Amino acid sequence: MNEVDGMRKGTCVKCGSEEVYTSKDSWNQHGGFESNTVPVALFSQAVLENYVCADCGYVESYVRDQKKREKIREKWAKACEDSKSA
Ligand SMILES: [Zn+2]
Repeated sequence: MNEVDGMRKGTCVKCGSEEVYTSKDSWNQHGGFESNTVPVALFSQAVLENYVCADCGYVESYVRDQKKREKIREKWAKACEDSKSA
């Protein structure tokens, strides 16, 4: 459907390998110790769903929790061309 869904569909977007593994549904999705998270705000973290290519090592991460994404919209600065100091 969408090219952006490459890793989610099991194909590495970098090298084209189908050796893509995901943390989805595994223990680290439950917010426990050593969970893979991104800090959203003070005391607020979003759990990441990761897709890793076992061939080239490329990692793609998604915040699945929509409430956290709304929080990020609220708290974070929007990325734009100007913020890239080249
Ligand atoms: Zn790859």
